Amino acid sequence: MILQKIQKCLNQIKFGISTDFRFKIRPFFRKKLLIFCLVPQILGASPANTRPMWGFWAHQRINRLAIFTLPPELLVFFKKHADYLTDNAVNPDKRRYAVVGEAPRHYIDLENYGDSAAYKLPLYWNEAVQKYGQDTLAMHGVVPWAIQQYKSMLTEAFRQKNARRILRLSADLGHYIADANVPLHTTRNYNGQLTNQQGIHAFWESRLPELFAQDYDGFVGAATYEPKVARRAWQAIQQANAALDSVLRFERELSERMPPNQKYVLEDRNGVIMKTYSREFAQRYHQMLAQQVERQFRTSAKMVGDFWFTCWVDAGQPDLGALANFALTDTDKNEEDTEKRSWLKRLFNVRSEGEN
Ligand SMILES: [Zn+2]
Repeated sequence: MILQKIQKCLNQIKFGISTDFRFKIRPFFRKKLLIFCLVPQILGASPANTRPMWGFWAHQRINRLAIFTLPPELLVFFKKHADYLTDNAVNPDKRRYAVVGEAPRHYIDLENYGDSAAYKLPLYWNEAVQKYGQDTLAMHGVVPWAIQQYKSMLTEAFRQKNARRILRLSADLGHYIADANVPLHTTRNYNGQLTNQQGIHAFWESRLPELFAQDYDGFVGAATYEPKVARRAWQAIQQANAALDSVLRFERELSERMPPNQKYVLEDRNGVIMKTYSREFAQRYHQMLAQQVERQFRTSAKMVGDFWFTCWVDAGQPDLGALANFALTDTDKNEEDTEKRSWLKRLFNVRSEGEN
C-alpha cells in the first residue's frame, strides 16, 4: 500500500519539481515522507542540496521524437515499442536516488575542473579516471562518459539481437543524451542556488516546454551516422554550457524588471497549491532566450536518433525483422515491475506488503 502511494506520488512529480536527495535521503524520508511529496510542489523549487531533473514530459517527448528520425530498418521495431521508449525515458531519474552510481550520470559540474573544462577534460573515461580518479569524477558528474558507456552497451545489445536490452538501453541512452543538452546540467549552480535564482532549473526545462513546446518544430531530420561518439557527447556539453550564461543572466535581468508579485503565481495542480513562475514572466523569458529551449530540445531528439542509429550500424546493421514480433512477456513485465519497486524500496527503505 505504502509503495503504491509512493509510486503515485513519484508519478505526480512532474515538470521538474522532483528533487535529487543524493546520499542523505533515507532518514529524512522515513520520517517525512508526505512532507517530501508535498513541500517541493508547494514551493515550486527544490530543497537545498538537491538537484532537479529535466521534466518527465520533455524526456518522454524527446525519446518519442527520436524514433521518427530512424530509417525503416529500425523504425519498424522502435515504432512498435514507442510507448515503452516513451514511458521508460524517465527510468534513470526514478532510480537515481536508489541505485548506487546512478545520480552522477545525469550531469557534470564543469567549474570544478577550471576554465574551459568542457574543452580540456579527457574525452574518454579511462583517461579521465587516470587523471582524476573515480571518486572525484563521480562527485562532479559523469554524463559525457555515461553516454559513451551506454552507446557501447546498446551496440552490444544490437549485436546480440537482444530486444529487451535494446529497448531498455535505448530508453536510458536517450535520457542521458537529453540531460547532457540542458545548460543547467553542466554546472554546480544547477538550480541557481549560488546566484539567488532558486527554481530556475525546473523553470527552464519543465515550465517553459510545458507552456511553449506545442509551437516547437518537431521535425528534426533523419538520423545520421556519428563516427565520433565521444566528441559528439562533449560537443553537447560544450553547447549546453555555452548557453548557461543566457539562462542565468536573462532570468536575473527580467527579475529586476518584474516585482515578485508579477514574477510568481500560485497554481492549483492536482489539488496541490504551487508557487510557480507566472505565464507573463515565462513568456518574456522564453522570448529573451530566442528559441534556446526549442533548440536544445530539438538537438537532443536529433542526437538520440543519431546515437540509436549509430549503435545499430556499429553492430553490423542486424536485421531486426526477427524481433518485429517481440513483446515483453508477463515474466519480463513482472521483472521490470519488481525492479522498479525495488528502487523505491531501497529509496524509502520501507517494508514491502508481504513483510508487514
Ligand atoms: Zn536525468
